[in-house]
Amino acid sequence: MTKDQSLTRLLTRRRALLAGAAAVGAAGTAGLFATVAGEEPIRPAAPAAGPQARRALKPSAYRLEPLTGYGPPRAAPRRALVRRAPFLRVSGRGRTMVLTFDDGPDPRYTPHILDILHEYDVRAMFFVCGEMVADNKELVARMADEGHVVGNHTWSHPLLTRLSRGRIRAEMERTCDVVEETYGERPAWFRAPYGAWNRATFQLGADLGMEPLAWTVDTLDWTTPGTRAIVDRVENGAAPGVVVLSHDAGGDRSQSVRALRAYLPQLLDSGYFITVPERKYR
Ligand SMILES: [Zn+2]
Repeated sequence: MTKDQSLTRLLTRRRALLAGAAAVGAAGTAGLFATVAGEEPIRPAAPAAGPQARRALKPSAYRLEPLTGYGPPRAAPRRALVRRAPFLRVSGRGRTMVLTFDDGPDPRYTPHILDILHEYDVRAMFFVCGEMVADNKELVARMADEGHVVGNHTWSHPLLTRLSRGRIRAEMERTCDVVEETYGERPAWFRAPYGAWNRATFQLGADLGMEPLAWTVDTLDWTTPGTRAIVDRVENGAAPGVVVLSHDAGGDRSQSVRALRAYLPQLLDSGYFITVPERKYR
């Protein structure tokens, strides 16, 4: 998607602004994600919903996580950048990282990513586009079989901030439907294309029972910078609570696949537990 690429470039600044805005309202992160130093994680009062009743979140519960831009902790200094020991070695609680793959599934790349994850017995998140799912249902069924989490990334990957509420809702809801059909349950997570969120996307996502999830480390793999560059971005960004953004569709993603094969075993060797987030608000 070359159109995606130029839009993403344009939106980098906007994303930074939005991330700043989100951080103002979010005092801390809880559970999986590292807590901001000195602040207690804040959990909104969660309704005791039964498994069938996925209730809409209250507006006060909107919380884009992770706090985009908080990156590796400052206390974990240069060691993480030293070439011979690129990873922050971690142990104990909080040594988790999340790998996310957006825009798929794509039969050219997604199976290889699933193979690698399977080889290392690792679970990841796939933010799928409904129109890609419709053509590749068996890949989403495989994600379910292998324990991955499938999130909603809209039907056709539009810039939601330019759409009416009705169209945003249709983009989201139609994708929820095809995910339910192929994955076996409706998605619990939503990620806006280009990271372009606005109030309507938060509200409508919550109405559909989804929590918003951003990222902290962007591999920029869609720019096809070379496998080594992608690996370096993951290595240099590795820290407890980090959420890595990669893509398994939208262009030639062979570098993304090769990079995963290189960095995943290194992350594991460095003591990271690669996992998927738990839902907190139901
Ligand atoms: Zn995307």
